[in-house]
Amino acid sequence: MKVATPKELTHDERRVALVPDTATKLRAAGLDVAVQAGAGAGAFIADDAYEQAGVRIVTHAADLLKDATAVLKVQAPMPSEVELLADGALLISFLQPATQGDIVKALARRRVTAFSLELLPRISRAQSMDALSSQASAAGYKAVLMAAERLSKFFPMMMTAAGTVAPARVLVMGAGVAGLQAIATARRLGAVVSAYDVRPAVKEEVQSLGATFIELPLETQEGEGGYAREQSDEFLRKQRQLIGEHVAKSDVLITTAAVPGRRAPLLVTGEMVKGMRPGAVIVDLAAETGGNVELTEAGKEVEVNGVTILGTRNIPSTMPLTTSQLYARNVANLLLHLVKDGAIVMDFEDEITKSACVTHGGEIVNERAKQVVSAA
Ligand code: NAD
Repeated sequence: MKVATPKELTHDERRVALVPDTATKLRAAGLDVAVQAGAGAGAFIADDAYEQAGVRIVTHAADLLKDATAVLKVQAPMPSEVELLADGALLISFLQPATQGDIVKALARRRVTAFSLELLPRISRAQSMDALSSQASAAGYKAVLMAAERLSKFFPMMMTAAGTVAPARVLVMGAGVAGLQAIATARRLGAVVSAYDVRPAVKEEVQSLGATFIELPLETQEGEGGYAREQSDEFLRKQRQLIGEHVAKSDVLITTAAVPGRRAPLLVTGEMVKGMRPGAVIVDLAAETGGNVELTEAGKEVEVNGVTILGTRNIPSTMPLTTSQLYARNVANLLLHLVKDGAIVMDFEDEITKSACVTHGGEIVNERAKQVVSAA
């Protein structure tokens, strides 16, 4: 069985889906492993390092992919890449089926068995494959560093001969995987941190990291599988009213609120941003799915009344070595889960396969993906 990792084609994607360590693991399971020359360059992994792990280096994507049984990628393939995949090949990547309807259809046409990492079930058995979590953790960590770098003041309290410096106040909205990592990082830098989430279940986790959990007199919005459910406009309006004073007091605001498959909820209006102190910084981790902050511009850094708002895209790609290592482990664990005696075994009774497999045997087999594609 041949496993191939081509170079990522998406602009600014520095991560790679295979690292030498995971190649060693796949080879130990009896798989033949190849990468396209330069595939690891963005993550500072040279072809030599792959060769030392017994990986074949192939110059052209077409040669690499034409007989690959399994293809490992970070981003969804481009249309030109789909055409290079072998009939019946397995593909594992982030697929974003909600916005990549045409690619999903093309994968089905080419009889590719495509797994979308966004659709993995959040169950204990799948934790080692959970790429959404590994990459969200990285984004939460980096969001705080980006804010600290731009903030007009120090994060920690400091006693100096010239007087005492008060610590920065950080507010994290959305305390899921990214939010909890942001809280932990801001605490390590010495800030005074508070956090809010519509799921009160996270209160203890927030407090155990040394932050204050903000409780608002609003009904819980707990959905299925540990996620939030979609909130009404009325709920969000009340929430903005109640959280306003906390936003105004913060020097740094990190927003991470999301509801799976939906536009990010609007937590902070332009008026609320104008109520913040000049010199404050907002990092909107939901920028790519519509933004939690009204004034966020995805992919840009904007300043409004002295408040800097970062809508940076693809933050995990800015730390490509660590995020590739984590991502590659997630992908290798999923691949090895699907391989029995050197061949891919598709068991649709298995919750992991049932949830995350999007196309198989020429069909779109995932109900959620089917609905999105037909709606588009
Ligand atoms: P996510 O990215 O979908 O959302 C981030 C956070 O935003 C969530 O905590 C959500 O409650 C919050 N949110 C939504 N609307 C909001 C609003 N209006 N105001 C404030 N906050 C709002 O979620 P995620 O980080 O991927 O994961 C969420 C949870 O899933 C985790 O906390 C955990 O309980 C669970 N999880 C389980 C596993 C596992 O068991 N394998 C793995 C990862 C996550």
